[in-house]
Amino acid sequence: MGQIELKQVTKSFGDVQVIPPLDLTIHDGEFTVFVGPSGCGKSTLLRLIAGLEDITSGHIEIDGIDATDLVPAKRGLAMVFQSYALYPHMSVRNNIAFPLKMAKMDNAEIDKRVNAAADVLNLADYIDRRPGQLSGGQRQRVAIGRAIVREPSAFLFDEPLSNLDAALRVGMRMEISELHAKLGTTMVYVTHDQVEAMTMADKIVVLQAGVIEQVGSPLELYRAPRNTFVAGFIGSPK
Ligand code: ADP
Ligand code: MG
Repeated sequence: MGQIELKQVTKSFGDVQVIPPLDLTIHDGEFTVFVGPSGCGKSTLLRLIAGLEDITSGHIEIDGIDATDLVPAKRGLAMVFQSYALYPHMSVRNNIAFPLKMAKMDNAEIDKRVNAAADVLNLADYIDRRPGQLSGGQRQRVAIGRAIVREPSAFLFDEPLSNLDAALRVGMRMEISELHAKLGTTMVYVTHDQVEAMTMADKIVVLQAGVIEQVGSPLELYRAPRNTFVAGFIGSPK
């Protein structure tokens, strides 16, 4: 399961409301992309879902359960950060195992999950290296591995590829799409890159100033953009 529902969710920082009342359903198994210009609230929305920021009003439900007041660790979601946040002194294996060790999972189960993640991500050859000995793409895979072993009901990505060069970005896009196909887990993916949104998404959520301008498949948005903002942003022929 991995259905996420936002009901009349708002977010203010001080006096400034960056998310006016917003309703959104992210369906189980869907690859959902939040796209929009810098500062439109993509990261804030993802952090509200993750529980890294408190919502100002409204409700968040995860798999039908009210998660509004749950701490991040209790939401069953896993966030993948663009800065990787890997521990430089630990091997790849230990970096991936770390959240499970913190949760005091037994070692046999940890080994099983780490090996399975390394397999899925083609990390087996690097498992004993330290992050400093890896390329940017390999580091990004380790960060994803650390999310996979928690077996989350959804993955949350905040511009995970923005630190990578253009060629690697194309490759990692395909890898993340392949991972979604393999796992079938809900993925919520934030980007300001229209091409990334159009090529990766099952469903795109177009945001402007904290407001959802349109939700639809890439083809729906391309063929029938609801307004000139969506058309301009997606590059539709209208
Ligand atoms: P995006 O990820 O789409 O670039 P953000 O979600 O980071 O946008 O930011 C949305 C708006 O909220 C921006 O105007 C930003 O300045 C503001 N904002 C984000 N985080 C904070 C914060 N911790 N304190 C005050 N304002 C914030
Ligand atoms: Mg952002």
